[in-house]
Amino acid sequence: MMTETIAAISTPLGEGGIAVIRVSGETAVQEVERIFQSKTKLTEAASHTVNYGYIVDPDTNEQIEEVLVTVMLAPRSYTMENVVEINVHGGVVSMRRVMELLLKLDIRVAEPGEFTKRAFLNGRIDLSQAEAVMDLIRSKSDRAFDVAMKQAQGQLSKRIKDLRYTLVETLAHIEVNIDYPEHDVDELTGNFIQDKCGQVMAEIDKLLKTASEGKILREGIMTAIVGRPNVGKSSLLNALAQDNKAIVTDIPGTTRDVIEEMITINGIPLRLLDTAGIRETNDVVERIGVERSRTALQDADLVLFVVNYNEPLQADEREWLQQIEGRQVIIIVNKMDLPNELDEQELATLAGRFPIVKMSAMLQDGIDALESAISELFFSGKVESNDATYVSNVRHIGLLHKARRSLQDAVEASQAGIPIDIMQIDVRTGWELLGEIVGDSVGESLIDQIFSQFCLGK
Ligand code: GDP
Ligand code: ZN
Repeated sequence: MMTETIAAISTPLGEGGIAVIRVSGETAVQEVERIFQSKTKLTEAASHTVNYGYIVDPDTNEQIEEVLVTVMLAPRSYTMENVVEINVHGGVVSMRRVMELLLKLDIRVAEPGEFTKRAFLNGRIDLSQAEAVMDLIRSKSDRAFDVAMKQAQGQLSKRIKDLRYTLVETLAHIEVNIDYPEHDVDELTGNFIQDKCGQVMAEIDKLLKTASEGKILREGIMTAIVGRPNVGKSSLLNALAQDNKAIVTDIPGTTRDVIEEMITINGIPLRLLDTAGIRETNDVVERIGVERSRTALQDADLVLFVVNYNEPLQADEREWLQQIEGRQVIIIVNKMDLPNELDEQELATLAGRFPIVKMSAMLQDGIDALESAISELFFSGKVESNDATYVSNVRHIGLLHKARRSLQDAVEASQAGIPIDIMQIDVRTGWELLGEIVGDSVGESLIDQIFSQFCLGK
């Protein structure tokens, strides 16, 4: 069965001196050859070689673009098909012209994610790896990139496959007992099921524990900076943003709006929200800001609560500290460069388990201490160890939860003395759900859906 040959621009549009157009399919080399002019024929080029030449309009013989063309023959290519990559050096215009010429040949535009989909369908990668490719493209920080990279290399897949193997063993064991009931080993089987399912559930729990860290690495720690007006929230935001120059987003708004900055601290991405004060207000515009800051507070993974060194604690600050619970808070004592008016003893008592960091946003003093406090809080200081398998994909997390529930059902059924063929269904369901993570038992529509989220050219 022959698939169509597809092409797309694989590099981001816009900036950048070099663009890569990727062509994949049985006839990729022959088709590109029709518009390629060089000393040697592309069809005679060895696999994995780079060939210098020109893209030529076959109708007019006009040289469109000077190019380097890489040939990668099946199956040693990204899609496992014949792949040709054309390095175009010019800007957007020449890139478009090359693309237009390709599409006049027997080539069509690739759908988003179609290259990766082919890699999956041809068995080069499994589904979790394909999804990791998508995460790689989107990853906002170095560490998120590492996580996605590990997943792309198949670490998660391997762990899932091991778990499924254990469940297959269990199913085989049940099968034998259903076929030979005269052995009367129901009780033994019950113990066996409980043992094996328990093992798998424990492993799933371990994976799920990494999920919150994985989510943080992927999406950033949602961090709200709160405090009364003029305590130095905006100054803190600026100091952090300056110290960590990787500003990714800067959502515009007035000073009363929530302002967001994306920064990276020790490789951990933080989405910083500077919110309007926590003070009650009657001013309509300000109230909207406060409303938004309430929402931001609710969504926050981390709250940086700013008070001033040169002022006594205010009633509303005391109240806030007494109310706050169920989230990570770092208390920041700002304006350390000014004379002391704050009762530090009282603050420490109110702070309880929350760490207190002293700093001067104005002098950019104490930023390091804040950064270590954040690392400590979210990664127990172990952030440098890179060999953990992180589960960071929402679909995977959902499936792990469901699989765990099925196995839990099996264990409970077994404890209740329910016949083993009922348990068999639960164990099988768990096995199938885990299979969906790596793509062993997913339907075609899900596959289409997943791959359609890719950007063009991947
Ligand atoms: P916000 O209303 O909480 O966002 O506070 P701002 O960041 O706008 O700061 C309010 C005022 O405090 C400004 O005049 C800042 O320059 C000043 N400020 C902020 N941080 C410090 C600090 O660490 N030391 C001193 N002396 N002044 C500061
Ligand atoms: Zn401000």
